[in-house]
Amino acid sequence: SIPLSFFAGIGSASHEGVLVKGSNYLELLADTKTIVFDKTGTLTKGVFEVVAVHPKTLSTKELLHIAAHVERFSTHPIANSIRKAYSNEADSCIVSDATEIAGQGIEAMVNDHKVSVGNTKLMDSIGAKWNNCSKLKGTTIHVALDNVYQGHIVISDVIKENSKCAISELKKNGVKQTVMLTGDSKSVAENVANELKVDEVYSELLPQNKVEEIEKILANKENEKDVVAFVGDGINDAPVLSRADIGIAMGVLGSDAAIEAADVVLMDDDPLKIATAIRISKKCLTIVK
Ligand code: ADP
Ligand code: MG
Repeated sequence: SIPLSFFAGIGSASHEGVLVKGSNYLELLADTKTIVFDKTGTLTKGVFEVVAVHPKTLSTKELLHIAAHVERFSTHPIANSIRKAYSNEADSCIVSDATEIAGQGIEAMVNDHKVSVGNTKLMDSIGAKWNNCSKLKGTTIHVALDNVYQGHIVISDVIKENSKCAISELKKNGVKQTVMLTGDSKSVAENVANELKVDEVYSELLPQNKVEEIEKILANKENEKDVVAFVGDGINDAPVLSRADIGIAMGVLGSDAAIEAADVVLMDDDPLKIATAIRISKKCLTIVK
């Protein structure tokens, strides 16, 4: 039977905005030794802003325009920022056949021309010869028209206020190793990881690469009872969330698929709540013992 203190624990966790989907997860949280974070929307706000536009032949406005048209079909935080930068003026463009490629970008037909918007992986896959002339720190989103390179848009995100504190609080609560996984570029990833003092960082990952990284970490546990948790905002993360010993989804912005796949759901987007959950778990176990 389930000790009464676990019900109390689940209750006090929910008062803190931490929904634990079962007493077994509450018990596991106490043994969390490795926490793996997704970057965008988890450690960073996931609210990008366009900071520069570098067109090749089109005008700045035209480049943003075609990109924004395609991004209408995406709910990714990157898409929201590009749509916002292009103030939606009425026009007669017909956009169809949108295909989102997880971890790479999105393509659609705009007035019978194929527009591709995404990272260097996407450009390489269509044979568009990209260049990156921006000296700004930020995520570079490339644009191609009928597989011909048209330039790029630089967008930047900011680290959440509590992320640095969250990492150090986890270390104070028995977590030995922190890891960050991201589909974003190496330079952006390393800046964030250095700033937050995350122990290990893996960048330019496709969703399936994130699953592979989690599997490696699970296979290399020091002790069998050590727990590996993954924390993500949900966009493209459902497979990783279900693969980890504990999948933690970050609340309101998380997709339904993520909330479904997660074992623990944080109602707000505060990464400090992970340490809170671990503390509640440890307290419960002390009472049981
Ligand atoms: P993260 O691992 O940081 O959460 P994702 O896996 O969601 O990021 O995306 C990885 C990368 O794929 C982004 O940094 C971006 O380069 C590209 N990408 C994904 N979705 C889009 C989109 N809708 N528009 C443009 N680029 C995108
Ligand atoms: Mg993500």
